[in-house]
Amino acid sequence: MIYADNAATTKMSEAAVRTMVSMLEEGWGNASSLYSHGQRAKEILEKAREDIAAVIGAEPREIYFTSGGSEADNQALRSAAAFGRRKGKMHIISTAFEHHAVLHTLKALEKEGFAVTLLDVHENGLVVPAEVEAAIREDTCLVSVMYANNEIGTIQPIREIAAICKEKGVLFHTDAVQALGHIPVNAEDGFDLLSASAHKFHGPKGVGFLYARKGVPLTNLIEGGAQERGKRAGTENVPAVAAMAAALQETAGHMAENAAHMTAMRDRLIEGLKQIPHSALNGDAEKRLPGNVNFCFEGIEGESLLLLLDDKGICASSGSACTSGSLDPSHVLLAIGRVHDVAHGSLRLSIGEDITEAQIDEIIAAVKDVVTYLRGFSPIWRDLVAGKKEFIL
Ligand SMILES: *Cc1c(COP(=O)(O)O)cnc(C)c1O
Repeated sequence: MIYADNAATTKMSEAAVRTMVSMLEEGWGNASSLYSHGQRAKEILEKAREDIAAVIGAEPREIYFTSGGSEADNQALRSAAAFGRRKGKMHIISTAFEHHAVLHTLKALEKEGFAVTLLDVHENGLVVPAEVEAAIREDTCLVSVMYANNEIGTIQPIREIAAICKEKGVLFHTDAVQALGHIPVNAEDGFDLLSASAHKFHGPKGVGFLYARKGVPLTNLIEGGAQERGKRAGTENVPAVAAMAAALQETAGHMAENAAHMTAMRDRLIEGLKQIPHSALNGDAEKRLPGNVNFCFEGIEGESLLLLLDDKGICASSGSACTSGSLDPSHVLLAIGRVHDVAHGSLRLSIGEDITEAQIDEIIAAVKDVVTYLRGFSPIWRDLVAGKKEFIL
């Protein structure tokens, strides 16, 4: 099997598995208990907080553990919104291609009286900082722009946007779920709030964290005990948190060499797929994650492509896991201006650190075969070839 769906989830690293198993066996105490077995769990938890904070240049007390990226996104947005409401500022700026954890929270906030501006991400899948600046109003309380997009992998100008927000006195949140562990992410970038998820950097599923710069007030999503300094109730999942820290330290420790290898493999894959007629890369070719390749092939359906690739032992995706299974084309591809017909024929290949050149070549050959095969009996393709419809790509 060739696993090329790392943007959906990654395999846990050996270090993460080892840490988790040993914690399940030995570190299972309740971190709030006073006896030494509980205190041992507390120490492990706080050590993980320190290790994670160190990777992103933050202070340990700026890290709040959550159940994953979705929860961190929800809490970040709701915290900034509550803060804004208290000050009479009820306008939020975000982008059209955010993860649904952000977009759906924004929809809910709109129903609660907030006004939301979604910025265009243009054909290359990049937010323009000057457009963020122009969209900021007197009553803007929050700007939320993802660090890197989960479907097309484009890396946003986070530092520039953070600087604008700081100057205007507006909170800035970034969903860094796809970026953390893969490209440098540091509190020096200037974000006030950041969301992360362990299972996107070889940690376990169901755990992540929210970074909140000192002084940024957080709102609880979950009320109860005083865990996470009163901001996130619930007995801490110490084994998962410890495994998350182990996974992050490992990926961050090998980031430069991993990125160099993956970028070379990514570009080889892009070059190979470009040979397929009437195809196009989605998103900027340079400002993209080392592991992300996303193509549209005219005249086919992404879903059939995935099933046939699966038969050849290749795991890929056509859009995000949340949209697959529905017939709507990806909101990300529509946001970069792909028309419905073209957006339907999309393929995301998100390669991992251990991908080999031989595997890349195998993927290229398999995609060429499958696209040719599917076009052979596609009515849309027949019309395109017969000149009854115009090629877009
Ligand atoms: C996966 C993902 C999330 C959701 O994280 P979970 O831990 O699965 O809840 C949020 N944002 C982005 C960009 C993602 O890729």
